Amino acid sequence: MSFFHWLTTGSSNGILLEQEKEPALSKPFLPFYSSATLQSAGFSHGYDFTKPLTKAQLCQIARLANIIDERDGKPLAEKIENCPKQKISVVCADAIDDEPYVSSQINPLLHCRTEIVQALNWLADAFEAQTRFIAVYKNMSPLDTKIPSVIESVEVRSMEGRYPMEIRAFQSLGEDTLIVGTAALLHLHRAVTQGKIQTTSFITVAGNCISNPRNLEVTIGTPVSHLLDRCGLSRKPSYIIQGSAMHGITVSDPDKTSVRADTRSILAFHVDHQEQLYSCIGCGRCIEACPAALNPRKLYRCVTTNHGEQAIALGLFHCIGCSTCSYICPSRLDLSHIITLGKQKFSKDKN
Ligand code: SF4
Ligand code: SF4
Repeated sequence: MSFFHWLTTGSSNGILLEQEKEPALSKPFLPFYSSATLQSAGFSHGYDFTKPLTKAQLCQIARLANIIDERDGKPLAEKIENCPKQKISVVCADAIDDEPYVSSQINPLLHCRTEIVQALNWLADAFEAQTRFIAVYKNMSPLDTKIPSVIESVEVRSMEGRYPMEIRAFQSLGEDTLIVGTAALLHLHRAVTQGKIQTTSFITVAGNCISNPRNLEVTIGTPVSHLLDRCGLSRKPSYIIQGSAMHGITVSDPDKTSVRADTRSILAFHVDHQEQLYSCIGCGRCIEACPAALNPRKLYRCVTTNHGEQAIALGLFHCIGCSTCSYICPSRLDLSHIITLGKQKFSKDKN
């Protein structure tokens, strides 16, 4: 049985993530443009968007507008082009945002719902898809923001389950589904109606040392330090992540790291160094939580004691790097980081 088949059908592993999305989600996103953003937008495609748009036309517009789908970093034009029309029967807008703090897909959906649903409808009509819906994550609490069950006559489907929900939900939908992020749909709408190229990304700036957590619409290429200045720091961050709490990469120099077209969040955290790292207490939570059915505790031990062959036999290379084990460990061991280092270290032995 393949990993993904097992993940979507046979696994009860993983954790239910309580979502720390407030207060960024409940506030409308703020524009954080440079003057270059405003000047550089604009191309002419000459299509009448009040009439149905064909797949070829949408593909051409997405290409002219340089739209990158934030959910997978792929050019939207390529995704549309590579989907055979006869094969697609479902088109889905992805607003799952299943990671703590991050609301950069659901926030634009709530504040630009008409535009996003119109772009979803253009795509669904062009593919003659029987089903279209918007996917959100169910385990979001506490939320002041009410997530509607229908937006502009399109169903909002709450995807329920354990992390990583974004992978589980979409693997279960099958190959007849075209999935596009809500931010990419908003960029598509602007391209079709206003001839705008994509020069911005929708980004959540949050974490336990951000004074004013917000969703911002930011010019691509803006240094991360400008975003931190915009939202304010209540104390010095111990680390900054570009990406997400579970999947992101560490930003070593916020002045030299820039926002990309597919950046979804910048998170800054302060760690109290009084907190000690403890030894494994053998609680087994990491084993219960691992969505790949691995034993992170044993993998950690094999890597730290340089037992590469044993680690490989235990499934080292099946780790998907989701960080669930580190997140849940009461001893605060960074299991995922060590396992990732082990993958790099022992990859030669594997080949
Ligand atoms: S990072 Fe790897 S070992 Fe840890 S929970 Fe995810 S898949 Fe399992
Ligand atoms: S969750 Fe942490 S403390 Fe518990 S078994 Fe795994 S490594 Fe050990």
